[in-house]
Amino acid sequence: ATPTALMVGIGRGASLGILVKGQDALEASGTITTVVLDKTGTLTAGTMTVTGTATAEHIQEHDLLRIAASVEQGSEHIIARAILSAAKKQITDLESATDFNIVPGKGATATVSGKLAIVGNRALLAEHGVALNSNEPNGIELHENPAETTVFVAVDGKLIGAINLADTIKPGAKNAVDALRKQGLKTVLLTGDSKAAGDYTAAQLGIDTALSEVLPTDKAETVRALQAQGERVAMVGDGINDAVALAAADLGLAMVNGSDIALKSADIILVRDDLAVIPDAIALSRKTLRTIR
Ligand code: ADP
Ligand code: MG
Repeated sequence: ATPTALMVGIGRGASLGILVKGQDALEASGTITTVVLDKTGTLTAGTMTVTGTATAEHIQEHDLLRIAASVEQGSEHIIARAILSAAKKQITDLESATDFNIVPGKGATATVSGKLAIVGNRALLAEHGVALNSNEPNGIELHENPAETTVFVAVDGKLIGAINLADTIKPGAKNAVDALRKQGLKTVLLTGDSKAAGDYTAAQLGIDTALSEVLPTDKAETVRALQAQGERVAMVGDGINDAVALAAADLGLAMVNGSDIALKSADIILVRDDLAVIPDAIALSRKTLRTIR
């Protein structure tokens, strides 16, 4: 590979909104076989809104939101931000909370007015011995739907309600996935969200495989497992959660509005706020490599 051709490629990338950190990155992207796409914040807008709640008997929605928001004060997660902003529309003050504990990929807990309060997914509730196996746990009518994320709220080991949240698929996501497939690449969606939510988004976008309920600490392992199957893996992500996987991938691509740590771990930074920049980056490197060889 001649340095000159690679430099030209890097320069062309810059004008396309593709910030290539080094020549190795450009060479690596020419040989990629699989693209792993993080769901939340990469394929979806990454800002959620509360779309509805379900409460146990004797629990009012504003109490549910107050308790959940009190716990979520300790979290920066987009779910936390959505619950806090929904709560602020209905109530003025949160409860005093201490002992904030964030459980990556699962939720958060805190002591709220002296009681252990939990906000999170089924796995987190199960860890605390709160069973959710019936259709209407504790008389709560769950309205779970695969297009949304449902988080559960428990106090003192009892379920008091559930909160539904929705994110939206980014406008350019379908076209970007189509383009990657036309480039002969396999596509994989990676998410910590439920299987229903992962499968739903993958089906909407025509993504080959959805790997759901993957803990942040296991995202890198998932990349390595694909590599062990002989794939050359590009990983696209945005969050703190994605940093190790971005580093483990043959090629790490970070969305520019992502977290600092994701940007540091990536080989390529996607400056243009349009997912078409992903197939563009692959096309650019293939073209650059052809010029060289
Ligand atoms: P993703 O990989 O889609 O970015 P995460 O790994 O951050 O998702 O989270 C996976 C799941 O864990 C969420 O869908 C949610 O059910 C639960 N979760 C994570 N953080 C929180 C939180 N702060 N509050 C409530 N639930 C949470
Ligand atoms: Mg994410």
